[in-house]
Amino acid sequence: MSKANNPKLKSWLTVESDSDFPIQNIPFGIFRKGKGFRVATIIGDQVIDLFELNKRGYFAGLNIDNSVLKSEFLNDFISLGKKKTNKVRERISDLFKSTTRKLKSNEKDRKAILSPVGKVELTMPIKVGDYTDFYSSRDHATNVGKMFRDPENALLPNWLHLPVGYHGRASSIVVSGTDITRPKGQQMPVGADKPVFGPCKLLDFELEVGFVVGKKTELGESINMDNAEEHIFGLTLFNDWSARDIQKWEYVPLGPFLGKSFASSISPWIVTLEALEPFRSKSPKQNKPKPLPYLKNDRDRNYDINLLVDIVPENGEGKTVCESNFKYMYWNMCQQLTHHTVNGCNVNVGDMCASGTISGPKRGSFGSMLEISWKGTMPVDMPDGSQRKFINDNDTVVIRGFGEKDGVRIGFGEVSGKILPAKK
Ligand code: CA
Repeated sequence: MSKANNPKLKSWLTVESDSDFPIQNIPFGIFRKGKGFRVATIIGDQVIDLFELNKRGYFAGLNIDNSVLKSEFLNDFISLGKKKTNKVRERISDLFKSTTRKLKSNEKDRKAILSPVGKVELTMPIKVGDYTDFYSSRDHATNVGKMFRDPENALLPNWLHLPVGYHGRASSIVVSGTDITRPKGQQMPVGADKPVFGPCKLLDFELEVGFVVGKKTELGESINMDNAEEHIFGLTLFNDWSARDIQKWEYVPLGPFLGKSFASSISPWIVTLEALEPFRSKSPKQNKPKPLPYLKNDRDRNYDINLLVDIVPENGEGKTVCESNFKYMYWNMCQQLTHHTVNGCNVNVGDMCASGTISGPKRGSFGSMLEISWKGTMPVDMPDGSQRKFINDNDTVVIRGFGEKDGVRIGFGEVSGKILPAKK
């Protein structure tokens, strides 16, 4: 494990005990500076400008071109390769640990390099080339199968043999804080003989975690279970907004289309796989049936990351409607990426893969309103006396995520999105 993960490390920057960003995290993101952009990290509530660090010589010996650190997106930085980006993480850890005075004692440099997070605009961190969404939580797939198919045979025959997925839309992935307009589309009302057109009435979130591809492959090449982690740069929180009524009418036989492609939201900081190493947890047994050999999992490849979803009405008190955990995944990220490329499909730096809705085994840990309200039959009571079956106009949905171990909390911050009424 990297020395940057040492739980004993403290920073000379102030880090509150409930902060997602202690010195052991060092995630990467982008913020706007003047008319340009800067590659950044965060410790406590201080955003750290990596371009200024490099320009002022704090990355001496790492040999990083300044242009990489004033890009609009992290893609060029990630393309430097894990070996180098991990060195950057370790250098930042060294510079900001409590015993290092070099930058701490240089007020001019400190002013140029640090900005309070409340004073900057965090922007979309990745130029997403291709986006794939999986469907890898067994409890979620079982819940959906029970509701819409046969409660006795909830999982389709392929589900336990391969990580089911579909190719989503990269152009509509947006950063946390971006408003989402309620989509319009075709719906087939129950009992009707022809479809109607109008605003979605059953707007939902899906609690997911996304990973960013950090190393490309050539067409015809396949990633395998042994090298898959080399191809994963880091993780974000991911909200796969879903229009259930549009989805229900359109999805046969080729899968999700306009019911999904209107928007997905991600958190602004990419937490590296290396920072999450302490949270590696057991993967579920896969022996009934055993996966084919190319998907065989013989390591702990799940991650113990608490996930929470809040619905916050406009001017009202929010309510936590879901407490789940990334460890509940049946198919892990390595299996997803291995399966994705087993046919020779190439991947590129900045491609994004999302987990699929992460539901736990119990009510209260279901990762979508579809499951929480069980198709609208069990509404959720809100603190203001109103009820929710799905998401109302002007509601904000907030997903948070963090792991905690040895007194160190490694978090993602949040991904939030407010629903605006459909356009006239
Ligand atoms: Ca999804």
